Amino acid sequence: MIEVDYVVVGLGALGSGAAWHLAARGNSVVGLERFELGHARGASHDTSRILRHSYHTPGYVRLTQEAYDEWALLEQESGEDLVTVVGGLDLFPPDCVIRPDDYIASMREVGIGFEELSAEQITARWPVFHPPPGTLGLYQERGAVVHAARGTAAMQRLADAAGAILLESNPVTRVTDNGSRVRVETGGSSYSCRGVVVCADAWTNQVLAGLGVEIPLTVTLEQPTYFAPPDPTPYQDMPLWIWMDEPSYYGFPCYGELTVKAAQDCGGPIVDPDRRTSDPDPAMRERLAVFMGSLLPGSGEAVRSLRCQYTLTPDRDFVLAPVPGHPSVVVGLGSAHGFKFAPTFGRILADLVTTGRTSSDVSAFGFDRPGLTDPDYEPHWMV
Ligand SMILES: Cc1cc2nc3c(=O)[nH]c(=O)nc-3n(C[C@H](O)[C@H](O)[C@H](O)COP(=O)(O)OP(=O)(O)OC[C@H]3O[C@@H](n4cnc5c(N)ncnc54)[C@H](O)[C@@H]3O)c2cc1C
Repeated sequence: MIEVDYVVVGLGALGSGAAWHLAARGNSVVGLERFELGHARGASHDTSRILRHSYHTPGYVRLTQEAYDEWALLEQESGEDLVTVVGGLDLFPPDCVIRPDDYIASMREVGIGFEELSAEQITARWPVFHPPPGTLGLYQERGAVVHAARGTAAMQRLADAAGAILLESNPVTRVTDNGSRVRVETGGSSYSCRGVVVCADAWTNQVLAGLGVEIPLTVTLEQPTYFAPPDPTPYQDMPLWIWMDEPSYYGFPCYGELTVKAAQDCGGPIVDPDRRTSDPDPAMRERLAVFMGSLLPGSGEAVRSLRCQYTLTPDRDFVLAPVPGHPSVVVGLGSAHGFKFAPTFGRILADLVTTGRTSSDVSAFGFDRPGLTDPDYEPHWMV
């Protein structure tokens, strides 16, 4: 039995953030990852992720303010440029399913500046966009791209530098809690610790099985695709964008290469993370290409696609909380929009497992909410 202060299960973006913050506070920390560090089977690989202030509740908008500050801290501590500000454009077509009102009210309440643009104003400013007449655009100048793989690796490096032991190819098979110590077992070893942070995303319920806890989660297999504009110049000076309707899509300007990446949000099939393909889905690619052809007609041909997992709670809100009855076992789950908060979640999860409290408002992210407890709760992911 190996004695440590804290164990982190899963070293994607969230677990790497937690390991960094726990080790930086002088705790002995072991991070256990079932695959190799930086693998592409979860949700934290590839290049770009959206960091934005525009959200549908004031609580989320306030949390984004912490996120921007903590990405800046991570850049400072790692010496790496991880955040590229490009501006963010939320597009609300006529009769759209995702209403602009909540976004407008939430940013106003928190004091985040933004512009309201008509379809004509959008095309005049960024001729690459051809939104249908009547589309409302909300432009927020701090919309940014954060680098997924490099951001995750930077947090792993800082965790390692602070003394954390990060072990890859070490799948956790069981977590049990006797009230004073938590026991974490892998195929080869057992750890006894004061507390555990579980950031296993699609595999969360497997890890929590020893505690008799099951979170209603849906895992979908998404497919970002890169397009090659014949003339990439105007795609280097455009904002990231989100199409706020159902189906919902989002995309990026050129980022590190002369292609533009885009994807459908929640467009993939429901899968078992242990029995899913990594092969591209031609139908998903075709659906996206048709959409790109209408909104960004110059975006060119699709040149490559990759697969990536979404792990969705029914209300699409995060889980940032101790397991009921197990204050020493804390779960971090990003519900397929958590990357932008990874450094912040790392701090919050370290706070919760060490003291049970945190300065951030996580009151909406506990286990005791209808989305997680009401068996008749109608999942809605378009927020
Ligand atoms: C296509 C796509 C686009 C996205 N775009 C955005 C965006 O623009 N902005 C944004 O904020 N978010 C976005 N997200 C969501 C974001 O990427 C995720 O919320 C975030 O990466 C989740 O990180 P994680 O560490 O919780 O999960 P993961 O990276 O999946 O990490 C979980 C880790 O746990 C490990 N694990 C599982 N079981 C065990 C076990 N038994 N023992 C040990 N280790 C285990 C896994 O191997 C994995 O490494 C996107 C996600 C996808 C898929």
